[in-house]
Amino acid sequence: MIHTLLSTDPDKLTQFSKDAVYAGAPQYAYAARDFQETAEVIAYCRAENIPVTFCGSQTSMTGASVADSGLALSLTAKNKIIDIGLGSDGAPYVVTEPGVVLADLKKAVLDAGYYYPPDPTSFNEAQVGATIATNATGEDTYKYGPTRRYVEELELILANGTKKTIARKKPVPQNIIKNTAGYFMDGEEIDEVIGSEGTLALISKIRLRLLKPDKKNIFVLLLPFSDFDRCIRAVLLLTAQPHKSRALELVGPGAAEIFKSCKSCPNELKNENCFLYIKDEYAEDNDFQKGVYGWFCLLNEVYRNVDDLACFDRIFLAKTDEQLKSIHDCRHHVPLKVNETCFEYIKDGGGKVGTDWWVPLQHLYKMMTDTHTEAQLLQLDFLVFAHIGNGHPHWNFLTQNKTDHQRAIDFVKKQGELAVRYGGGVAGEHGIGKIKKYLMAIQHRPAVLNKMRAIKKRWDPDFILGRGNIF
Ligand SMILES: Cc1cc2nc3c(=O)[nH]c(=O)nc-3n(C[C@H](O)[C@H](O)[C@H](O)COP(=O)(O)OP(=O)(O)OC[C@H]3O[C@@H](n4cnc5c(N)ncnc54)[C@H](O)[C@@H]3O)c2cc1C
Repeated sequence: MIHTLLSTDPDKLTQFSKDAVYAGAPQYAYAARDFQETAEVIAYCRAENIPVTFCGSQTSMTGASVADSGLALSLTAKNKIIDIGLGSDGAPYVVTEPGVVLADLKKAVLDAGYYYPPDPTSFNEAQVGATIATNATGEDTYKYGPTRRYVEELELILANGTKKTIARKKPVPQNIIKNTAGYFMDGEEIDEVIGSEGTLALISKIRLRLLKPDKKNIFVLLLPFSDFDRCIRAVLLLTAQPHKSRALELVGPGAAEIFKSCKSCPNELKNENCFLYIKDEYAEDNDFQKGVYGWFCLLNEVYRNVDDLACFDRIFLAKTDEQLKSIHDCRHHVPLKVNETCFEYIKDGGGKVGTDWWVPLQHLYKMMTDTHTEAQLLQLDFLVFAHIGNGHPHWNFLTQNKTDHQRAIDFVKKQGELAVRYGGGVAGEHGIGKIKKYLMAIQHRPAVLNKMRAIKKRWDPDFILGRGNIF
C-alpha cells in the first residue's frame, strides 16, 4: 500500500533532481502531506533499504538535498505557521511546520511585533526546516549569530518512523559562531540535529525563540576601496569597534563585477571594484541621523588610517525600501549568477569550486591577502565576497574543465588546511553535503570522525537518511 505513494513520474523526479550546484537521480518522489503518513513512508523505505533524501527548496550548494538514488521527500507542502506567542517566561516564540519559506516566517513574526534574525541570502526561497538542517547563517549573523541560537524545540521523525521531541535545556554558548563541517559535538542532543544536513532525522515541527526588536529599521552603507589590501585593513579596524553593526560584508574582486551587472545596481556604484557593506539598525528618525553621523565620523578615521580618503566621498547610503531592495537583489545576484554560470560547465568536467572557510579575526588579514595573491597565480576566474566581519568570506572558482576543476579543489584543500591551522574551519555555513566530503578529514582528526560515525549510527543505523551527505 505505502509503495503506491512513491511516485515514479519522470517530471516529478526531474523536479527534485538538482540543487544549486549538483545533479542526482532520485528513483521515487513523495510530497509530505500528513506526518503520520510520512512516518510510514520512512519506515517502509528503511525496511526496503530505499535511501531517503529530504528536500526543502533545494537551494543547497553542496548536493545535500539531492538524492543520488532512492526517494526524494519534499517538505514544501508542510508550510503552516502553527503559533506565534509569548511563553510562560514572557519570551516570544513561533511554532511552525518545516516547509514554511523563511521570508514568510520572518514577515509573520514581524507582523506580530517580534523579530527572527537568521537571514541566509536565500531567505526568499529557503525553508525553515532546512535552515535548521543546515544551521543557516547569513549577513546578520555578524550581530545575531547563526540559526542554532534560536532553536528551542524540534519534533522529529526518526529513521524507523517513530516520533521524538527534543527541547533545548541550556542556552547555546555565545562563542560558537560558525562551523558546518559535520555534527556539532559540543552541545546537547538537539544540537546534533541542527546542521546535520538531513542525515539524522526529519524535522517535522519547530519551536523557535524570537526577539523583541527595539530597532526595526535598517540602513546600508556601501564603502568603496581603491584596492583589496586597504579594504581588508579597514575590516580589521571596523571589527575592533565596540559598536557592532548588523552586518559587515565584503563584495570583493570578481564579486563586484557581478554585483554591478545586476539591473538594480545604483549608478553611483558602477565604477567600484571592491567594497564593504555595512548594515545597521535604528529605532526612530532621530536615531537614524545620529547613527549615520556616528558612522561617517568613524569611517573618516578608518579611510584616513588605511590611506584611502579619496574613496570616503563615494560612500553610498541606502535607506529607502526601494534602495535597500536594490542592494539586496545585487548581493543575492552574486551567488545566483555564479551557480547558474557554473552549472553549464559541469558537463565538461568543470563547475563551481567554492570554499567558505573561516578564521579567527587575528588571522584574517594574512589569510585573505595570501589567498588573494595565490588565487591570482592560479589564473582561474574567481571571486570573493560575503561574511568578512565573521572572518568567513566565500571564495568561488569558476572552472570550465576537469583539469582546472581539480586545480581549484587542490587550492581549496590547501586553504582549508591553513584555516584549520589558524584555529578556524573548512566550512562556515554551506556544509559538506555530497561535494565537499574531502574537507572532513582536513577539519577533524580520525577519532572525531569516528565519533561522528557513531552519532550517525545511533540515529540511523541503516544509513538510509541523506545517504551520501557528510560521510
Ligand atoms: C543564491 C544562494 C544564496 C545562499 N545564501 C546562503 C546564506 O547566506 N547562508 C546560508 O547559510 N546558506 C545560504 N545558501 C544555502 C542554502 O540556501 C541554505 O542552506 C538553506 O538553508 C537551504 O534551504 P532549502 O529550503 O533550499 O533546503 P534544501 O537545499 O532543500 O536542503 C538543505 C539540507 O536540509 C535538509 N533538509 C531540508 N528539509 C529538512 C527537514 N525538514 N528535516 C531534515 N532535513 C531537512 C536537506 O536534506 C539538505 O541536506 C544559499 C544558497 C543559494 C543558492
